[in-house]
Amino acid sequence: MATQPDVIVIGAGLIGCAISHALSRNGAQVLVLDASAPGSGASQASAGVLCPHIEAVPDSPLQQLGVASLGLYEQFIARVQRDAGLDVPFVRDGTLETADSDEGAAHLAQLAPQLTAQGVACTFADGRALRELEPLVGDTQRAGLLIETHGAVRVRDLVEALRVASLAFGTRFLEAERVSQVSTRPGVLLVRTHANRFEAPHVIVTAGAWSIRLPVDGQPAAPTHPVRGQLLRLQATAAAMLRRVLWGRECYLVPWGDEVLAGATVEDAGFDARATVAGVIQLCSAARALVPALADATFSEVRVGLRPGSPDALPMIGASHRAPGLIYATGHHRNGALLAPITADLVQRLVTDPGATIPAAVSPSRFAL
Ligand SMILES: Cc1cc2nc3c(=O)[nH]c(=O)nc-3n(C[C@H](O)[C@H](O)[C@H](O)COP(=O)(O)OP(=O)(O)OC[C@H]3O[C@@H](n4cnc5c(N)ncnc54)[C@H](O)[C@@H]3O)c2cc1C
Repeated sequence: MATQPDVIVIGAGLIGCAISHALSRNGAQVLVLDASAPGSGASQASAGVLCPHIEAVPDSPLQQLGVASLGLYEQFIARVQRDAGLDVPFVRDGTLETADSDEGAAHLAQLAPQLTAQGVACTFADGRALRELEPLVGDTQRAGLLIETHGAVRVRDLVEALRVASLAFGTRFLEAERVSQVSTRPGVLLVRTHANRFEAPHVIVTAGAWSIRLPVDGQPAAPTHPVRGQLLRLQATAAAMLRRVLWGRECYLVPWGDEVLAGATVEDAGFDARATVAGVIQLCSAARALVPALADATFSEVRVGLRPGSPDALPMIGASHRAPGLIYATGHHRNGALLAPITADLVQRLVTDPGATIPAAVSPSRFAL
């Protein structure tokens, strides 16, 4: 692709790769620029749990967006697997949320009929029923809520498949190209990196937590902030094989065969993406309290990522009302894996039809962008 691209995507995380795949399979010439390498930001640390009914309060905009995105997941995965020729591990076998206090148990007991009334398949489990659902839970856990529609995806595999699928449709990825400025010119946007200049009629900002550091002429910065998350990858023994995602008060556990992801810390540490002793101890203690048999698990890895937080915990998805052709898809905070399919859909609609309607709750205009 030596010609001017139709779209420049700034940031090759999960969101940028999902968008480049959607746009390029629809015929657009796409150029993706990343300051580092594809998938090296928050996405490489993601646990990949897809759980709108845990992450969001009932009937909130985040829950509605999350439920809509979860509904797109099967087709999203099927498409990328087919286009990339790669397997992306993905399950829809539910989450089991647990409570370790009377108040927590009462909350889950109250939530179950509310979700059922919304048409969400779920089951409240008292202490005995909880142990039938998951025999490995620790003695401190008093009750549980099984939400059957939830799922999980292996995000690193998903990002790689989206990258390979995008390449198959002619997308060009340039690594080590940190964008330093976006400027408006008649009919195009100009994107500058330390060494190069690129032009395209559409530019998509998918720079995750770093979006706030991306200067755009005449435009306030996108108000993202980094929220550090540390996560452990453990190798469980045969005696500690979980049946599905287990969600406790202080940590969650995501099993993939004998591998378990234990996450995650939520920290305000600026742009410092290093693992800490305190973070690892916190996760080890919480994981062992939730499932005592994990005391014998071995360590494979500590992952750290900077989630792209936003002031109201909702993403910014939509066109700038100041810079024609500029589109934001950032600030996905704790739910970038969940929201990737709907974000890619919305952005693709906007590129094809600038008048396309976007849910007001996620409009960048709420931050004067
Ligand atoms: C520990 C942890 C657990 C999580 N668990 C879950 C979960 O269970 N479920 C869920 O849905 N979500 C989860 N998340 C959140 C999810 O991972 C994020 O919301 C998602 O990865 C954000 O993707 P992104 O593409 O917006 O950002 P990133 O993955 O951070 O990608 C941004 C990219 O932009 C590039 N970039 C930055 N600045 C520039 C620039 N100036 N020029 C060019 N490129 C630039 C970076 O190099 C990076 O590659 C978790 C996050 C963490 C950290």
